[in-house]
Amino acid sequence: IVRMENVNKHYGPLHVLQDINLEVARGEVVVVLGPSGSGKSTLCRTINRLETIDDGAIYIDGQKLPAEGKALAQLRADVGMVFQSFNLFAHKTILENVTLGPIKVKAVKRAEADAQAMTLLKRVGVANQKDKLPAQLSGGQQQRVAIARALAMKPKVMLFDEPTSALDPEMIQEVLDTMVELAEEGMTMIVVTHEMGFARKAAHRVVFMADGQIVEQAKPEEFFTNPQSARAKDFLGKLI
Ligand code: ATP
Ligand code: MG
Repeated sequence: IVRMENVNKHYGPLHVLQDINLEVARGEVVVVLGPSGSGKSTLCRTINRLETIDDGAIYIDGQKLPAEGKALAQLRADVGMVFQSFNLFAHKTILENVTLGPIKVKAVKRAEADAQAMTLLKRVGVANQKDKLPAQLSGGQQQRVAIARALAMKPKVMLFDEPTSALDPEMIQEVLDTMVELAEEGMTMIVVTHEMGFARKAAHRVVFMADGQIVEQAKPEEFFTNPQSARAKDFLGKLI
């Protein structure tokens, strides 16, 4: 459902994505691992075109990501994204945070948007917080709202860029649990994370990046027990 073909990107002299070829099937959960600066966030950001690419092509559900315009807005709606920082609208209530996208971008009627939002807020366990402002919620609750907000657009794929790394330890698990549930429901997910437990439990495939390249990919149990490349061995050796 996501296909990257020979994608290259530079930041000035830095070749941050080098000939990336990646295909993610519908319902697949891919965890992207790699050292800091290896290009994981950049990879995610090119998939919903928060970043441009220099050459190559990216397809979402068979449609090439266009450079701009209405077609881009439409394709972008198919790609939900959750960041490290929760990025909720600070002056809107939790409920409004979730309904804003569907109402503005998809022209969903308010009553219907409210009903869908409540279903999603229940699903991530924060329905009782609906009238509060983001700052009144814990980090873990805010991140679950961010997930609900992304899901409200009915995306075909969800991107997560280190969704738990800004959270206090006791809140990490509740967000990971929400993500595991989503994975079990069959959502297509690309997840950048340092949570190896999540990778082992929920990932169908691990993609390991270093220096802007996909160095190896494997099923989690294979990757963790028998990494092939020196870079991956080094990376895993430094964990724990
Ligand atoms: P981390 O694990 O620290 O989040 P990452 O794998 O997500 O790292 P990226 O954020 O994709 O790495 O960055 C890849 C490289 O591109 C880094 O060397 C970074 O300094 C550089 N980079 C990222 N964004 C920009 C930018 N807007 N302008 C210039 N260089 C950038
Ligand atoms: Mg990053």
